[in-house]
Amino acid sequence: MGNAYEVYALRYAIMPRTPHMNYLAPDPHETAASNLDYFVWLIRGHGRDILVDTGFNAAEAKLRGRTLTLNPVDALAAFGVRADDIADVVVTHLHYDHAGNLDRFPGARFHLQDREMSYATGRCMCFGTLRHPFSVEHVTLMVRHVYGERVTFHSGDGEVAPGVTLHRVGGHSDGLQVVRVETARGPVVLASDASHYYANMHRRSPFPILYNLGDMYEGWDIVARLAGHPDRVIPGHDPIVTEIYPRASDHVDAYSLHLQPSRSFEK
Ligand SMILES: [Zn+2]
Ligand SMILES: [Zn+2]
Repeated sequence: MGNAYEVYALRYAIMPRTPHMNYLAPDPHETAASNLDYFVWLIRGHGRDILVDTGFNAAEAKLRGRTLTLNPVDALAAFGVRADDIADVVVTHLHYDHAGNLDRFPGARFHLQDREMSYATGRCMCFGTLRHPFSVEHVTLMVRHVYGERVTFHSGDGEVAPGVTLHRVGGHSDGLQVVRVETARGPVVLASDASHYYANMHRRSPFPILYNLGDMYEGWDIVARLAGHPDRVIPGHDPIVTEIYPRASDHVDAYSLHLQPSRSFEK
């Protein structure tokens, strides 16, 4: 595998939830807790550290009543990666839990879909429900990065480095993109919020933050095709990830996604 990378999920926050909050069509008989985990992802290899999403900080956590374990920038440091050294940051979409801390990466270029910038600064933000997952401070910082010539815009499919490609799926947010990474076990797809949980995709029941239901359904097919195997799709917020992938650090909640999981979703 010429372009194989290592991929790590770093968990930086958690939120207690029940199943009825996680599915557009919840199962009324299902009542066990179904928590939401928050991650950023780090792609390492060939002399590069590529960060996928930037999480949120303590002030944002307080504002929204979330429990921040550790700011993801500090989690990176504990993992041996300096934010100052990161040259490429992929922002899957501009929701508050994926696009905070944008002032903490002084040397980075930000990779974003055209449609996400348009969506987050356009007429849909006049509607409270669609606006709620965004922070105007984060979006404003991204506008500043555009003016500072630090944003690489992608439209549909794009490439960050050989073996690391971006693919717009939309659905959850109009410009949501997923990341496909070559690894020794084949291509791993960081689905981000194309599927919060494995079960959103497997049951075909979306997480109830939605911009376009049709794109959401199409997105699951795109993600499946890009990965080529169900065990190579990584959902954006599922605690199961931390149960089935090997721990990669004694200091932070980091998990090796380039290694085989202990459970298979193959039918
Ligand atoms: Zn989101
Ligand atoms: Zn999210």
